[in-house]
Amino acid sequence: MMTIHPLKKTLISLAAGVWLAGAGGWSVAGEVAIDPADNGTDIRDDTTEDADSRSSEVTAAVEEFVEAVPSHSHDVPLAEAVTSAGGIAEPLALLGAEIPPGTSMRLSWSATELFEGVPVSTPVLAINGALPGPNLCLTAAVHGDELNGVEMVRRVLHDINADKLSGAIIGVPIVNVQGFRRGSRYLPDRRDLNRYFPGNPTGSAAARIAHSFFTNVVAHCDALIDLHTGSFERANLPQIRADLRNPDVVTLTQGLGGMVILHSTPAIGTLRYAATQAGIPAVTLEAGGPSVLELNEVKHGVKGIETLISAIGMQRKLRLWSDPEPVYYRSSWVRADSGGILLADVSLGSTVGEGDLLGTITDPMSNARSEVRSPYSGRIIGMARNQVVMPGFAAFHVGIATVEAPVGETEPSVAQKKDGDSEDYVDGMSE
Ligand SMILES: [Zn+2]
Repeated sequence: MMTIHPLKKTLISLAAGVWLAGAGGWSVAGEVAIDPADNGTDIRDDTTEDADSRSSEVTAAVEEFVEAVPSHSHDVPLAEAVTSAGGIAEPLALLGAEIPPGTSMRLSWSATELFEGVPVSTPVLAINGALPGPNLCLTAAVHGDELNGVEMVRRVLHDINADKLSGAIIGVPIVNVQGFRRGSRYLPDRRDLNRYFPGNPTGSAAARIAHSFFTNVVAHCDALIDLHTGSFERANLPQIRADLRNPDVVTLTQGLGGMVILHSTPAIGTLRYAATQAGIPAVTLEAGGPSVLELNEVKHGVKGIETLISAIGMQRKLRLWSDPEPVYYRSSWVRADSGGILLADVSLGSTVGEGDLLGTITDPMSNARSEVRSPYSGRIIGMARNQVVMPGFAAFHVGIATVEAPVGETEPSVAQKKDGDSEDYVDGMSE
C-alpha cells in the first residue's frame, strides 16, 4: 500500500488550487497541467524517498551541451527596450500559439515521453501587452521543492493589466513539475535540472528536458528572472545573484529595487548561465528556504519584480522602498568544524563583525560545545536552519563588506567557475 506524505498531499492540493483558482480570466490552450487525482507514479513510500530526495544527487555528468541560441537577436540595451520599440505590438508566438496584443493565455510546455511514457506538462502563463516592448520571463521551481517562487509568479502574473503593458511577461511557475510533485529538488533520476542548461536534444533525460525548455520558452525571452530559495534546510535572505560585468544584467539588478545584490558568475549548466550565453540577461532571485511557503519572502520578491517591470518601463506602478541595500562582491560560507546540534545566534540579515559568534554546535553525546565564529565582517545572507550537522557543513553565508568593487579585469570568463565567489555552489547549494 502506497502512502503519501502529508507534505506531498499539501503540494498536490496546492498545485491544483493554484490553477483552478487562477483559471478565471485566462484563456487556456493545451491540456490542464496537473491532475489533482493523479498521485503520480513517482511518489513512493515515504521515508526512504524523502531522505533520498533531499540528500542524494546524481553528480552532473560531463555532458556536451548544444549552443544556447535565442529565438531573436537582442540589439537594444534592456534599459531602452521599451522606448526604442516603435510601431504597434505584434502577436507573441509561443509554444505553437499566437497570443494577440492585449491578451493573456495559459499555454502548456511538455517535455513529454521522457519518463515512463507518461505525458508531463506544466503551465506557461503569457501576457502579451497592448504596447510593444521586451519579453520578460519569470521561471520558478527549477528545483521542485522551492515553493516561494511558484507563488511569486502567480501573484505577479495575475496583477498585470495587459492593456497597459509594454511588451510581454511569460511566467513558468513550475519548471520541474516532476520534482514539484514529489517535493524534491531533483528530477526523478536524481539529476539537478539546473546543471543541464542549455541542454542537448540527444543527451541524458535532464539534458533533453533542459533543451526542450530552453528552445521552446527561454529562447523567446529578452530578460529572465529565475526564482529560487536556499536548499537542504538552508534559507536565504531575499537577494539577487547577478554577474555585474554584464550591463544588461546591471539594468535588471538596479530595477529590482532595494534587494541585496550578490555578484556571482553563474555556474555552468544553470539557467542563468545558459540564458546569458544566449545574450539574454538573467539574474537569480533567491528568497527563503525550500519546502515551505514564506509570505514575507514572497511579498519581497513580488515587490522587487513589480519594481523592475515599472523601472524598465513595461508598466507603471509605484512601489516604495526604504534604504537601498548593499551590493556584495564577495561572499563565503562559514562551515562547521565539528559535528552535533547547530543552534544559530544570528538571523538572516544580521550584521556581523570579524570574530562574532554565529552559532554553537553541541555534541549530543559528550555535551562538548564548540562555537562558530565569523572570519569576516559583513551580513548574514544565507544560513542553515537549526539542525544536526557534520564537520564541513556549510552553515552561514556571509556577504562580505569590501571597500572597492573587484568586478572587471581580473575576473575569469563566465565559462570558468574556479573563482572565490563560486564557493556557494559547493554541496549543490541554492541556484
Ligand atoms: Zn534552487
